[in-house]
Amino acid sequence: MNWFLFIGIILGTFLTMEGVTWLTHRFVMHGFLWYLHRDHHQKSSGFFEKNDAFFLIFAIPSWLCIMLGLQHSNYWVAAMGFGIAAYGLAYFIVHEVIIHKRFKWFTRSNNLYVRTIRWAHKMHHKNFGKKDGESFGMLLVAKKYWDKVRKANKMINLNS
Ligand SMILES: [Zn+2]
Ligand SMILES: [Zn+2]
Repeated sequence: MNWFLFIGIILGTFLTMEGVTWLTHRFVMHGFLWYLHRDHHQKSSGFFEKNDAFFLIFAIPSWLCIMLGLQHSNYWVAAMGFGIAAYGLAYFIVHEVIIHKRFKWFTRSNNLYVRTIRWAHKMHHKNFGKKDGESFGMLLVAKKYWDKVRKANKMINLNS
């Protein structure tokens, strides 16, 4: 097995997962599985959300790929499993910790990227319903949100 190839597949899977997540969020979570995603848009009390089920839904293929890939020495499949797992971890840190602050780990950040993903996801949550949302991705953010946050930064700098 070639380590460059192995790591390349992990990275490729990671990037692909952003697209898979966008599609799943746009067409499945805001589609026929809306009943699992609804409580993420219409908050109720309690720590867990039905929406957390999606972590399990994505963890299963990841675990299967890693386990079966290693058992059968199929490193392509194992690398894809690690890629999905790495994306799940990144998603967890960005969405649950940085954006929704379910764990108070690093709450104060003025990093431009952090502020932009927060803003973009806030725009997603502006909509409480199933239809007509915007900004379904997570790590990749459309240019208009970058522009918006850059502009806001400039205003703050001008006024201080
Ligand atoms: Zn949503
Ligand atoms: Zn959210």
